[in-house]
Amino acid sequence: MESILVLTHTDETNALTKASLETVTAGRELAARLQAPLAIGILASDPNPAAAALAATGARLLAISGEAFAQPRYSTDAAACEALCRAAGATIILAPASSRVARVAAGVSHRLGGVIDTHIVALAGSPRIEATRWFYRQRIEAVLTRVARPWFLLLDSGARAPFAGPSGTPAFEQVSVTLPERRTTVLGLRETEGSQQTIRPDAKLLFVAGAGWTKKQSDGQIHASEAGDLILGFINAAGASLGSSKSLVDQGSDGQPVLPFLTHMNQVGQTGSTPRHAKGLATCCHGEEPHVVGWRFIGERRAISLDPNCGWTRGKADVVYIADAFKVMAEVNDLLSGSHA
Ligand SMILES: Cc1cc2nc3c(=O)[nH]c(=O)nc-3n(C[C@H](O)[C@H](O)[C@H](O)COP(=O)(O)OP(=O)(O)OC[C@H]3O[C@@H](n4cnc5c(N)ncnc54)[C@H](O)[C@@H]3O)c2cc1C
Repeated sequence: MESILVLTHTDETNALTKASLETVTAGRELAARLQAPLAIGILASDPNPAAAALAATGARLLAISGEAFAQPRYSTDAAACEALCRAAGATIILAPASSRVARVAAGVSHRLGGVIDTHIVALAGSPRIEATRWFYRQRIEAVLTRVARPWFLLLDSGARAPFAGPSGTPAFEQVSVTLPERRTTVLGLRETEGSQQTIRPDAKLLFVAGAGWTKKQSDGQIHASEAGDLILGFINAAGASLGSSKSLVDQGSDGQPVLPFLTHMNQVGQTGSTPRHAKGLATCCHGEEPHVVGWRFIGERRAISLDPNCGWTRGKADVVYIADAFKVMAEVNDLLSGSHA
């Protein structure tokens, strides 16, 4: 019979991360379907808030805590995850695909003589577990099964609801761990260049900027600086995540006008990312297939384009505004700042 361990960790505020809570949801569903025992491992400097938040799961709670776990660090995190896995003795280990866990999971799996699969988006099957992931830029969906145990599954975030239950008395088993000698000291966090963190995976809205923002407009001029102000003004006011078309991010290397805060990390599409957001708004973007393929997991799609024959109008968006995005976004930003007359 299978037994399941969900690995979780807290953020800098000592609260469980959203991806951890989504993994708890997945663990509870799997445990219910397999009628298997469920344990949840907590990695935190202080596990009490997390244990209180998880009390309603009814799962066995195991915790590793202390100052050493306030910050991600390979040696301490790997040792902690290994100790949690050994204490739980689980055959199936579900973990969030956060940068913190993804960094150590393969090493921990190796230490336990286990196997690991990553980018899992769905779990089905009973009694045989079927784990689903995408390959080849979200074009091929594969269902994986394995007989080897323990089986580590790293779950991509955004595919299930985070666990939310009434807070309870924090009751957990403290697991002890012998830490290796620490060679890495975390001094602090450094902001990305220019303090602009424009990629926000947890945002409700994806705002995509296309190459039209830096093309000649109706007055025959390029308005790249105004474009930059409008785009940043909107994503900061709306808390949106910023995506881009390939044409726009490629312009820097082509010697054309650029928006300095965009990098290839912002690129959405076939050779870019496939983000998950409830809504998306494309602006000054044509909506060609290699770009829109990256919108596969965007719930509601809207676009603002001057071209009534763009790809968005040809069935790729739910709503298309045939309008000048400079004017529309200036108006929207005024509304958001409350300065609209
Ligand atoms: C192998 C391959 C892989 C690719 N991978 C990707 C990928 O991962 N991601 C990606 O994005 N592309 C990718 N592409 C490129 C893709 O095919 C398109 O060339 C690209 O997406 C076009 O970007 P765009 O729509 O921003 O620019 P354009 O095609 O130049 O469109 C600009 C649009 O802006 C509109 N516009 C201009 N001014 C305004 C205004 N004031 N208001 C409103 N609208 C305005 C114009 O009408 C036009 O429709 C790939 C191509 C290939 C061949």
